[in-house]
Amino acid sequence: MAEGMEHVRCLIIGSGPAGYTAAIYAARANLNPVLYTGEQPGGQLTITTDVENYPGYTDGIMGPEMMEHFRKQAERFGTDVRYELISKVDLTGPVHKAWTESGTEIQADTIVIATGATAKWLGLESEERLANKGVSACAVCDGFFFRGQEVAVVGGGDTAAEEATYLAKLCPKVHLLVRRDEFRASKIMQERVFNTENIIVHWNTETLEVLGEDEVEGIRVINNKTKETSEIPVKGFFVAIGHQPNTEIFKGWLDMDQTGYITPAPGTTKTNIEGVFASGDAQDNVYRQAVTAAGTGCMAALDAERYLVEKGIV
Ligand code: NDP
Repeated sequence: MAEGMEHVRCLIIGSGPAGYTAAIYAARANLNPVLYTGEQPGGQLTITTDVENYPGYTDGIMGPEMMEHFRKQAERFGTDVRYELISKVDLTGPVHKAWTESGTEIQADTIVIATGATAKWLGLESEERLANKGVSACAVCDGFFFRGQEVAVVGGGDTAAEEATYLAKLCPKVHLLVRRDEFRASKIMQERVFNTENIIVHWNTETLEVLGEDEVEGIRVINNKTKETSEIPVKGFFVAIGHQPNTEIFKGWLDMDQTGYITPAPGTTKTNIEGVFASGDAQDNVYRQAVTAAGTGCMAALDAERYLVEKGIV
């Protein structure tokens, strides 16, 4: 084998709940998994604070700490965790090829994709400064912290509609900021929004600034038709303008939907290429929870193991 090249049975790409769970299962099945963490070791949970909905943590846990637990558990069974990015793949042959950013070639009998997704942000300086201090991209994760308080949600798609209706059960008033004069969300989700009394829809409205020093105290918005600006006093600011799955390197190889979510065969993690399995948010634009990602990571490792047995590789 040429220098700078190695052969592995199970290559796991990504280090969120899906990747580490796949690693735990693959390691315990003696597949000697090698896991590449990507640019953000631990994934999206490392940029959140309290996680209170992951079963087993009775008192909740901080996101970064939880991901340390995941990593340590994966390493305990022998997962080789590497802090680098896989930047290219070639899925032509039965042995799949992947390259790290520094140029190492890896030949893998199986690949588990767990590259996740990235929430889109508006790109405001104040939004970044107040991230986790009232600014969030996940109502299901953080809504509970704002119960009894006024909040705002940005976006006009299904996610925004869903987050607004979720928050409306916890908060007295939810301001939904839509940049056009219509929703992109499905009719049924729109109906839900219109039928929820404490959601106030602000049409043609864009956010100029999130107000507050150490925590969110309000937002300054502009009506893009009348150019009128105003302030809304809110404690929570939820950005729900979509996610981008981190699947760029698999384009052209794997079947995906319009947005780039990988579309495995229903009920499995099998992609259109034998030996390549997709798990976590890279293939899920509906649930997007740590626990569901972990579940599909487990499925991917089991699918990979079965594939290796069928092919007589292990
Ligand atoms: P979408 O891309 O569907 O919608 C994004 C929304 O955010 C749009 O209304 C868009 O406005 C708005 N937006 C984008 N950028 C900005 C910006 N900079 N400032 C203000 N607003 C902005 O993303 P979703 O996450 O809502 O949905 C993604 C996919 O997941 C969809 O296919 C959806 O149907 C699906 N989904 C399904 C659910 C379900 O079935 N329960 C739940 C959640 C998602 P504009 O319309 O003007 O472009």
